[in-house]
Amino acid sequence: MRITFYDAKPYDVESFESAARELSWDLKFFDVHLTEDTAELARGSEAVCAFVNDKITAPVIDRLCDCGVKVIALRCAGYNNVDIAYAQGRIPVVRVPAYSPYAVAEHAMALLLTSVRRIHKAYIRTRDFNFSLNGMMGFDLHGKTVGVVGTGKIGRVFIDICRGFGMDVLAYDKYPAKDLSVRYVSLEELFRKSDIISFHCPLTEETYHMVNRETVEVMKKGVILINTSRGALIDAEALLQGIKDRKIGATCLDVYEEESEFFFRDISGHILNDDTLARLLGMPNVIVTSHQAFLTKEALENIAKTTLDNIRDIVENGSSINEVR
Ligand code: NAD
Repeated sequence: MRITFYDAKPYDVESFESAARELSWDLKFFDVHLTEDTAELARGSEAVCAFVNDKITAPVIDRLCDCGVKVIALRCAGYNNVDIAYAQGRIPVVRVPAYSPYAVAEHAMALLLTSVRRIHKAYIRTRDFNFSLNGMMGFDLHGKTVGVVGTGKIGRVFIDICRGFGMDVLAYDKYPAKDLSVRYVSLEELFRKSDIISFHCPLTEETYHMVNRETVEVMKKGVILINTSRGALIDAEALLQGIKDRKIGATCLDVYEEESEFFFRDISGHILNDDTLARLLGMPNVIVTSHQAFLTKEALENIAKTTLDNIRDIVENGSSINEVR
């Protein structure tokens, strides 16, 4: 079995080589996006393994099929980057629906605490022997209202963490869970009443730009937004304007709509070719991590194991429970 990996980073190589140790499979790793041009690298492979920023469009799917590829294996949960409708009947697409909801939910809380207690600023100050506390005042999370959009695997863990901090939780989900004891409200009410809003729903046509000029208008003054889901849930221009207007108090982003050109790469020696991102990064109340919420040892182990199982199931048995339909 030969698998061609795209967007492969050293941590991917390590986790997949370790998970495939017992198998005599040929794993080929490339640090380039999967595109119409790079699809050719997969010729002779049974499977390709792609990540969140590989845009798997109809022409890419055609090229992969031409190259004899039998399965597209996403080593992530979200699949908004794949033209699933076009893939149907042409090539199976599998994903890793769950690998560690804790990794992402804990990262969301880490971002929130960093922002609220100014840890990012304290870290830099004290390294420079600046022990002044001026401008470092935070606020208690205890007693604040947090709105959680999407109460699936990650949203639930985040709710539990917030409850541990003594926060009041409001939730919105298009498909509210029957087995979850939480106060579901409309999205409008959640936006209106929350001091902090954290997004844990998938990117779909419906959730695209759910934070926009109109919805920012409805939110509380000083609201903190946390997005560890997908960048395009937030209209970045509206976010920037909300921050400039002092309506949005702080923002924690692990994802950004136009991230595919920048995230997961070291472009520190280059000019950042995105004025909106540059402006956001220049704001004292914005924290950005580059799509790293998933990046824990446990998550990587689970991703590698499930991805290899998914590929084997498709190639050897013709079906997988993790096929996206
Ligand atoms: P999940 O499928 O378990 O839960 C998603 C929830 O969103 C479900 O309860 C669903 O009913 C709800 N939902 C669907 N449409 C909605 C809508 N229109 N409005 C509100 N809620 C809606 O998924 P999960 O494992 O909890 O992951 C959530 C998202 O987190 C993923 O879609 C992915 O985009 C993102 N994610 C990010 C990272 C990262 O590293 N930053 C890692 C994993 C997942």
